[in-house]
Parts: sequence; C-alpha cells; structure tokens
Amino acid sequence: MFYLRAAYILDEFGNILKNAALCIENGCITGIEKSLKNISETEIKDLGPGILMPGVFNMHTHLELSCLKNKLDFSKGFKSWVIELIEKREKISDEKKIISALNEIDSLLKSGTTGVLDISSLGITKEIFQKSDLKGYHFYEELGLKEKFLNEKKEEKISFAAHAPHTTSPELIRKIKNITNKQKNLFSIHCSESDEELNFITKKSKEWGEFLNSRNIDFSDWPVPSKSSVEYLDKLNVLDEKTILVHVLDAKDDDFSIIKKRNSTICICPRSNKNLHNKLPDLKKMFEFNINIVLGTDSLASCESLDVFDEMKFILNNFQISPDKILKAGCINPSKIIGFEKICQTFKKGNIFNGLYINDVNKDIYESVIFSEKNKRIVL
Ligand SMILES: [Zn+2]
Repeated sequence: MFYLRAAYILDEFGNILKNAALCIENGCITGIEKSLKNISETEIKDLGPGILMPGVFNMHTHLELSCLKNKLDFSKGFKSWVIELIEKREKISDEKKIISALNEIDSLLKSGTTGVLDISSLGITKEIFQKSDLKGYHFYEELGLKEKFLNEKKEEKISFAAHAPHTTSPELIRKIKNITNKQKNLFSIHCSESDEELNFITKKSKEWGEFLNSRNIDFSDWPVPSKSSVEYLDKLNVLDEKTILVHVLDAKDDDFSIIKKRNSTICICPRSNKNLHNKLPDLKKMFEFNINIVLGTDSLASCESLDVFDEMKFILNNFQISPDKILKAGCINPSKIIGFEKICQTFKKGNIFNGLYINDVNKDIYESVIFSEKNKRIVL
C-alpha cells in the first residue's frame, strides 16, 4: 500500500481536493486521505504542485478511419464528404489502416486519453484494441437490414452499435439493443446528426428513400415520419441507461426530456459537427436538462485529432460552459455509464487506478488542465 500525494486531486465527483493523498493497494484505489497528518512520510510518494486526476475518456471515435487524417475536404458538405470517405477508404489497405490506428492508440495513451469507445464497421481494429492498454470497448457497428458481426457471445472489451436511425432497420436496431442488454453491455448509435437523417425521419424525404431503395432496403414498415430521431428511437424502446446517443444536433426540449427520462447518455463531438455540418449541439440545454454528457471526437476523417483535451479546449472557446463542467464531461461522467464494469477511471474506492498528473496548473485549475500541453501530461 502507498499514498500518492499532489497539491490537488480530482475526486470521483469532479471536486478538487487540496493537499490530499490517494491510497493505492495492488493497483486499486482504497480511498482518498484528506489529511496527511497520520500517514508516515515513507508511505507517501509526493508528485508535486500539480493535479492528480483520472485519465480522460474518448467516448466516440472510429480508429479504423485514422488513415484518413487530413485527407478529406470538409468544405463541400456532408454528402460529398461521405462519398470521398468511402472512395479513399477503399484504396487504403487494411494493413495501413491498422498501422495508423496503432499510432493513434499509442499517442492517445501517451497524452492522457486512457479510455476509448471505438466504433468499427470494418471489424479490423478489434484485436489491436483488445490487446492495447486502452480501457473501454470496441463496438462492432451494424447498418442496413442484416447484421454482419452481431452474436450473443460476450467477449472481453467488445460490444455492438447501430449506425443511425435512417441507415439501420428498426428490427436490427432492436435486435442489437436486446443483445447488448443481455450482455449487460453499452449500446451506441449516432442520432440526429445530418440534414439527410432529419429530413428522412421527420418528413420521410424522397431523396433518402430512393437511396435506401437503391440499396434494396425496404423501409415500408419503418415508423417514419416521426417527430424526431430521439422520439423514433424511443418508439423502438432502445433508450435506457446503457444507451449512448452520439451527436444529438437537432434536438428540442421534448427530445431532451425523453433522453433524461430514459437516463441515456449523450456523447457530443462538436469539432466534427462544426467541420461536417457547420452546426453545434445545444450543450447549454443538455446541461439544463441534467443529462449525462460525455465527450468524443469522432474519427480523424472528420476531426483534427482524437485528443479529448482538444475537444475540451474547443468547447471552452465556443460555448458558455464553465471549465469544471467540461472537465467532468471528459473524465468523470463516463464513469456514470461505464461504471458497472469497474473500468471507469474515477478515483472511487475499488476502482483500478488510472491516473494522470499535470504539473503545470495555475489559479484556475480546471481551465489550466484543459489547456495543458500534451507533453506536460504524465500518465502514471
Ligand atoms: Zn461516429
């Protein structure tokens, strides 16, 4: 047993404790001592004048698209971006895709993002994710009418996701959710991201209908039009405390009420939203509704980096949200949804220790953590 002391410690609720020490035994947290009076000096490892905090969690990315970093044009709109993505992705070998993903995993771990939810429709990053030191899950993502990967066998660090309400049949969405619930696993789905989705779900747009038909996807029994993507998913009965809704860009009060009532989590990826749709989520409303909000970056095909600190900086610069709330979304709120597996990274008694030390902090501690330089974050 030993104690890690720092001038500041971010506790499991996101509060800052001054001059405290984290007690660690066999790699697990056994408590936080708020007074060092009764601890012998030989048991204390003093980190210094900075802050000891949990590693941050990227709650939505697609590692398999890391090979597309800086290769796509965001300025021509979402549709042209999708076409370019598919064309360029096909030209890159799986081997190159895996090398790029491995490089990103390495740089995430070195810069303080120690947990990831990785979404994959190709299925090629499963093994490297399982073998990596990243905490979290690799999600096989399904779309269309029929599953490619879905099965009932529970595997370590593996779960399943549906792509989106307008791309995946309601039967398949329900089936995935049923299986992930049986496995006591998380379920993730992109929700309310693009105009294409909005127009199809709320107006049954001809354009998207034709696209689905061209892919032999019969949508005659899909419950469209619905009031919104959130309402649509609620009708399918797939919103609960293990569901993560990614993006939620075009949501109204009714949608936030449903999400809150169902106790689902929203993962926002605002840099990607800005790049692809020139829109930002209504983060203020999300906080007002007291919804569990976590942060993702989406992939390097739509965002400049997978570093959650960059996402936090962007939020601080573009929204009227206090830095403590932003930091909690990055490293405390994920535990509210992943806590059941004890892989969450807060400093809660019983959790596996996963710490980050940042030496350079000033008076406004939350803000200086968010603006910390990559090389000043020491993963312990
Ligand atoms: Zn995504």
